[in-house]
Amino acid sequence: MALIVQKYGGTSVGNVERIRNVAIRVAQTKKKGHKVVVAVSAMSGETNKLVSLANQMKEFPIGREYDVVVSTGEQVTIGLLALALQDLGCGAKSFLGSQVPIITDSAFSRARIEEIETAGILSELKRGNIVVVAGFQGVDRDGNITTLGRGGSDTTAVALAAALKADVCEIYTDVEGVYTTDPNICPDARKLKKVSYDEMLEMASLGAKVLQTRSVEFAKKYNVPVMVKSSFTDAEGTLVTKEDKDMEKVIVSGVTYNKDEAKITVAKVPDRPGIAAKLFAPLTKANINVDMIVQNVSHDGHTDLTFTVSKADFKKALQLVEKTAKEMKAGKVLSDTNIAKVSIVGAGMRSHAGVASKMFETLSKENVNIQMISTSEIKISAVVDAKYTELAVRALHDAFGLGKGDVEEER
Ligand code: ASP
Ligand code: MG
Repeated sequence: MALIVQKYGGTSVGNVERIRNVAIRVAQTKKKGHKVVVAVSAMSGETNKLVSLANQMKEFPIGREYDVVVSTGEQVTIGLLALALQDLGCGAKSFLGSQVPIITDSAFSRARIEEIETAGILSELKRGNIVVVAGFQGVDRDGNITTLGRGGSDTTAVALAAALKADVCEIYTDVEGVYTTDPNICPDARKLKKVSYDEMLEMASLGAKVLQTRSVEFAKKYNVPVMVKSSFTDAEGTLVTKEDKDMEKVIVSGVTYNKDEAKITVAKVPDRPGIAAKLFAPLTKANINVDMIVQNVSHDGHTDLTFTVSKADFKKALQLVEKTAKEMKAGKVLSDTNIAKVSIVGAGMRSHAGVASKMFETLSKENVNIQMISTSEIKISAVVDAKYTELAVRALHDAFGLGKGDVEEER
């Protein structure tokens, strides 16, 4: 008998019939003798609708009331799923984030989970009930409702699994697992049997939409085995787990892309100590994450600084940077929202040389210009013009032999 946390995403609970199907799956797991906690997202499209409503009410609506609005989609699905389970004869009880409670900090729209009180859930499980928890939401220490960032239900599920010391966290979604790249771009893409936490972390933050980045951070920190699988088929999924020897043999295990970023360049920044701090401080204060940063060598005491932020933060970031640039007596502020970040990821990069040059050669052969580059131990990213995204992804997938036809090492 195991304790299993299952998470069902928006498409899996997209209508009444699908919620019934989810209930059947959950009930089957319970019938096998397991204790089951389920985290669910809002019905697909609902959160987008709520975000759009908030945006129609106020410019820059992010704050306490924004979270009150956008968290409501999940309240509907937990209630419906609990009803469906009861209809199947299962004891089931729904919990809002604040009822668990899932305690977070107060960073509205991107709150971090600080603590989960498990007593309430545990006593329901003891009574033989299935517990259904609203994904994506929590409550801060002052009782304000918070949300965990888009895609946050994954994080709810993994955090619950960690707090409850569950045997596994199963993430049910509309794809069958983690692929070498987006199958919509490369029909040749292959499903991976397993990926390491670090690879998954890179893939998630680089644009593979299958898991929210923070959920993988949690999984890694608390060593939670995460199984990503389809809620529509019985196909074997992808296991996200600790790195092992097999994984190191494969140099590149995935190609990702992200079109959700925008680029800002501040020209002719006076080159002296403290300028970067001054430029980025207002962004930090506004809770805006800066991703890639490039600073050029200086000419005549001036340098150019280029960085990327998510498109959602772009308008606000540009306003803040224009203000600081003026104060610093810097030059023009330029921006470009037509960019894409294309990346290759693989645990094997740690121990293999020449990966970067192969990536750059591949892009140059396709005549794709690279605007920015960043690397970590296990990934290399290049910013390119958005119109070359598909071309770049296919070329890299091919060059690193990731297609179905090319595998030697089943993984
Ligand atoms: N419903 C939320 C969203 O769309 C959370 C989630 O689906 O994970 O971002
Ligand atoms: Mg999701």
